[in-house]
Amino acid sequence: MSSAVPYVSQDLPKDPPVTTFLWQVSSNPTRVRATGECPACRCVTTRVWEEYQHVPKGPAADGWKEFATGKPRYARCRCTTWHTGRPADADDGCGASFYVALPPQGLSL
Ligand SMILES: [Zn+2]
Ligand SMILES: [Zn+2]
Repeated sequence: MSSAVPYVSQDLPKDPPVTTFLWQVSSNPTRVRATGECPACRCVTTRVWEEYQHVPKGPAADGWKEFATGKPRYARCRCTTWHTGRPADADDGCGASFYVALPPQGLSL
């Protein structure tokens, strides 16, 4: 929880994925939310996946299915802490992107 961590645009290694995030699923529309501590800056950050009901098919729908496979999902830090050096075109986060592990049993949507 420190703004002393400077903004660094970085992709953290895919392996191992972050396992400490809390997953929540809600419906109508289907929405998946993962909340946890960013592995880079240690701020709490939330990644949300939403179902866009006007696009029932296509790449987005395929990505949606991956929740059942248990594959780690890509997330970008979206913390609200001010990290020094954040570029003007970045609204939030510390610049880190990482992969979040799904629960061992996957998510049933
Ligand atoms: Zn971060
Ligand atoms: Zn942060």
